Amino acid sequence: MIKKVLVANRGEIAVRIMRSCREMGIPTVAVYSEADRTAMHVRYADEAYYIGAAPSSESYLNIERILEVARKSKADAIHPGYGFLSENAEFSERCSAEGIEFIGPGPDAIRQMGDKITARKTMIAAGVPVVPGTVGAITSFEEAIDKIREIGLPVMIKASAGGGGKGMRLVKDEASVESSLRGARSEAKAAFGDDAVYIEKYIESPHHIEFQILADKHGNAIHLFERECSVQRRHQKVVEETPSPLLTPAIRAEMGAHAVAAAKACNYHGAGTIEFIVDDNLNYYFLEMNTRLQVEHPITERVVGVDLVKEMINIANGIPLSYRQEDLKQSGHAIECRIYAEDPDQNFMPSPGTIRHISEPLGLGVRHDGYVYEGYTIPIYYDPMISKLIVWAPNRDEAIGRMSRALHEYKITGVKTSIPFLARIMESPVFRSGKYNTHFIEENSEFLFSKADCDGICEDMALIAAYLEYTAVLQHTEAAPEEQKPASRWKNFERRAYI
Ligand code: ADP
Ligand code: ADP
Ligand code: MG
Repeated sequence: MIKKVLVANRGEIAVRIMRSCREMGIPTVAVYSEADRTAMHVRYADEAYYIGAAPSSESYLNIERILEVARKSKADAIHPGYGFLSENAEFSERCSAEGIEFIGPGPDAIRQMGDKITARKTMIAAGVPVVPGTVGAITSFEEAIDKIREIGLPVMIKASAGGGGKGMRLVKDEASVESSLRGARSEAKAAFGDDAVYIEKYIESPHHIEFQILADKHGNAIHLFERECSVQRRHQKVVEETPSPLLTPAIRAEMGAHAVAAAKACNYHGAGTIEFIVDDNLNYYFLEMNTRLQVEHPITERVVGVDLVKEMINIANGIPLSYRQEDLKQSGHAIECRIYAEDPDQNFMPSPGTIRHISEPLGLGVRHDGYVYEGYTIPIYYDPMISKLIVWAPNRDEAIGRMSRALHEYKITGVKTSIPFLARIMESPVFRSGKYNTHFIEENSEFLFSKADCDGICEDMALIAAYLEYTAVLQHTEAAPEEQKPASRWKNFERRAYI
């Protein structure tokens, strides 16, 4: 049984994982970079070790240093979180070689699913529908043109190693094939060190709907239903909700069965996500599998009533799944908003800096997974996500109302955040109707980016109030007889000392 967990990550996800460990009575070990000496995960853990300079290549991606800390601290398991080393097959392999439990799938499953071309082949063999397109990698421009004529425009040129929305190009006409091919290749080479690309049919009015799965080491696998992730910018998720407003119970059951088949096809164990792209007619196609805990996992936890991190640890311990498919049901509705330190009005430019003030939303049905605090300086080296706000309510309308209320309570000063933008999404009639696809943000930009009336006014009012308060205190101090002037804190302290 796992006795101590090293969390090879930072930010909100490191804290979130440590919380479940603490509930299970398992001590935790944090690792941190130069930029993270004062970070929340370092404060929260039972022990913390420095692993290198700020750039992640020298710290959070530094396999040797992380394993060294595991040995030194006698951690017998490592949770990789998401990003960083979470989908690194070599890391999973090195952990096993050192007798350390990697809390996630084995290296073979990571390799098979991390490479999108291999994943597509595996899914075809398992009878899971994939997006129509090439089975192998594209090696030349001529081959690309031939295949595109076969598949039909528009298409997506996609990096086999891609992730985080990188290495992907939408091609609408033959004239742009050459530049898109070059662009996808060089971006993939730079980001993933691998320039293999393939071509997929572009699905019109696409919905991104993914299924959470859990599989144990004894061949049992279940799904925990779907997450609707179609509110995206630059192919990255911004808001997620479950249940999806698009699916019918019949399609949900069918997709869930395919998700379980996908997990079994690669001998998977741990928590994972099968992503599908779905068109307006509810035709669905396998997109990719993420072999790790997902950013948006809390909405599933809330609606299904399962702690996914605890389940991951139980699975790593070799315990058979404690749930059967028929035990699980979706109850109520959950929404997550990703809060970023960035400026939506400046094309989502990162806005790093020092948090001057933060008031986190509370109240019925609200969960806040964050890691920043007042006085904390957000480092420029990592993802600018500050926190995730998750709400639950008995139905979708109430959940949207609750999210609006929670966003209204949420105040952060010192850095620009996406909070006002997310509030506009909650107010959008299109979002409220539930009839939206991945083009939602660009198609509704006029509504979403027009400043809410109150924005500027509230700021001005706060400034005027602060100024009036300041001048009132000044006047009072000037005009009053000496004995009535407000005493300074030092004077009060002094007086008390004499009494
Ligand atoms: P999710 O569906 O969990 O939101 P994302 O694609 O947004 O997945 O990725 C989650 C995190 O992992 C982000 O911080 C992203 O930058 C990072 N990430 C995703 N894929 C890769 C990759 N191949 N290499 C490095 N980082 C990645
Ligand atoms: P990543 O590994 O970067 O997450 P995905 O393959 O999961 O890449 O695609 C990310 C997003 O890009 C999807 O959620 C969707 O919005 C869009 N996308 C990808 N492939 C297609 C496609 N064939 N048709 C339409 N949209 C697509
Ligand atoms: Mg994806």
